Amino acid sequence: MAKRIGFVGLGTMGLPMARNLLRAGHRLRAFDLDPARARMLADVGGATASSACDAARGAEVVITMLPASRHVEEAVLGSGGVLEGLEPGATLVDMSTIDPATTRRVEAAVRERGARMLDAPVSGGAIGAERGTLTIMVGGDAEVLDQLRDVLAAMGTNIVHCGPIGLGETVKLANQILGGTAMVAVAEAFAMGIRMGADPRVLLNVISQSTGNCWMLRQAPVPGLTEEAAVNRDFAPGFMVDLMHKDLGLALQAADEHGLPLTLTAVAHQLYGLASRHGYGRLDVSAVARLLEGPGELLWGRPPAPPGRPVRP
Ligand code: NAD
Repeated sequence: MAKRIGFVGLGTMGLPMARNLLRAGHRLRAFDLDPARARMLADVGGATASSACDAARGAEVVITMLPASRHVEEAVLGSGGVLEGLEPGATLVDMSTIDPATTRRVEAAVRERGARMLDAPVSGGAIGAERGTLTIMVGGDAEVLDQLRDVLAAMGTNIVHCGPIGLGETVKLANQILGGTAMVAVAEAFAMGIRMGADPRVLLNVISQSTGNCWMLRQAPVPGLTEEAAVNRDFAPGFMVDLMHKDLGLALQAADEHGLPLTLTAVAHQLYGLASRHGYGRLDVSAVARLLEGPGELLWGRPPAPPGRPVRP
């Protein structure tokens, strides 16, 4: 059944997700701090709200898709935020990747208002958002999720209840630990193999049928090795270095609150931070591999930089 939905945050992920909700027949009122993003949704039939509070007013469901914890706190709890307009009985679904402690804090405020909240971070990137094939990891009351399955199904094909509020974020961060460290490990494996003379096609062929096989193997940054690797598009994301840096930082912070050191995650977090310092922050995560190139070295087969110019931007 069509629902009245307020949507806050129409960025790389939010805009295509909102479009898919419209396509599925839901009615949308959306807000983004950047009016140009809101206009892009209006072009395909969404209504524009003047604030997060305005987007929430009269909505059965409010979805937030924002960069980080502080944006969610500001857009929900801040002045002119979602909470001021949220109807008792309505549900806030936060689909951003943020830290689980913030999720629980926001949920307490939402509950106090007589409304409900799910955390529902996603995996699948911008392509999954366009195609409506995201994996959605949901924390919160299972009954509330069942009432909203039709809404989530417009954006994702794999909807998994992970446990009570905050557990969606926890499972998402666990996935990021593996994806983030695996990308670094793939880069190191290929750097060593290539430098010692192995053919990258042989590396891919053997590893993909051995114990080293993993999702990030297909992102090994050797031009033309796989169709989907971001290196073929000059490292256009995909999933950005800066977002991976943020997510691994969240995982470290959350684990630390539980007295749990995450050694590999800490090293990978520093490497993504370093990649960002080198100017690769808005490139695909696989650009972390460029840290392994020596001065003037073309480990990944990129064309040489013009003479007199630095190798890295
Ligand atoms: P983005 O930066 O492209 O978009 C965020 C949008 O939120 C922007 O349009 C910004 O103007 C808006 N915004 C910020 N503060 C606001 C506020 N207070 N009120 C209203 N609008 C506000 O980010 P994104 O890539 O769409 O990512 C969103 C979330 O999804 C992040 O938590 C990210 O980690 C997660 N995620 C991203 C990807 C990806 O591939 N991009 C994949 C999975 C998960």
